[in-house]
Amino acid sequence: MTQKRRLGIMGGTFDPIHHGHLVAASEVAHFFSLDEVVFVPTGISAHKEGAKVVAAEDRYLMAVIATASNPRFSVSRIDIDRPGATYTVDTLRDMREIQGPDTDLFFITGADALEKMLTWHDTDELFELAHFIGVTRPGHRLADPGLPDGRVSLMEVPALSISSTECRERVGSGEPIWYLVPDGIVQYINKRGLYRGAA
Ligand code: ATP
Ligand code: MG
Repeated sequence: MTQKRRLGIMGGTFDPIHHGHLVAASEVAHFFSLDEVVFVPTGISAHKEGAKVVAAEDRYLMAVIATASNPRFSVSRIDIDRPGATYTVDTLRDMREIQGPDTDLFFITGADALEKMLTWHDTDELFELAHFIGVTRPGHRLADPGLPDGRVSLMEVPALSISSTECRERVGSGEPIWYLVPDGIVQYINKRGLYRGAA
């Protein structure tokens, strides 16, 4: 019997993608022996509705630019091409169908997002569709995760206190984001004039 392929899924707004996302994906891929990690930018995030988010196409292209040099990273359009708000259960159902039965899915998410997940609907189905890996980041410790046994793993990644919010605010107030995001992202944000009015 051949071993199943192990596919990581990293969902996010990626507004913009930064080195925190990339380090988390790389660390999880290493420790969980993943064959590939696919970054899935949200359409309209169900949890960020009403928030101002740059165009899906820009967020998608930035994810492509940031991951282009890593042969084990890819980007999927499934969430941005699906009309309406993005729910993780739809992402996982679609990915399950695309990948077929020979692939195991590992959904990678920050511990902050994982805590919110407990308030989502359909959590039973979520845990059937994928194994969940919660990465802890600075300032977000899981007090009592209360998550189902065996379906969720928690993992610490090197403390990178980078957030997209901080990157947007920095661009808005003219501060540098060099080295917080890949060089190509700094250049793309400048070229497209993104986040200038953010601060
Ligand atoms: P925002 O500040 O707009 O909320 P963000 O930096 O949290 O943006 P998201 O696109 O919301 O970025 O995050 C996508 C996923 O990556 C989430 O699961 C989030 O918890 C995780 N994540 C974000 N930043 C980091 C980081 N520095 N280290 C590890 N995981 C992170
Ligand atoms: Mg966030």
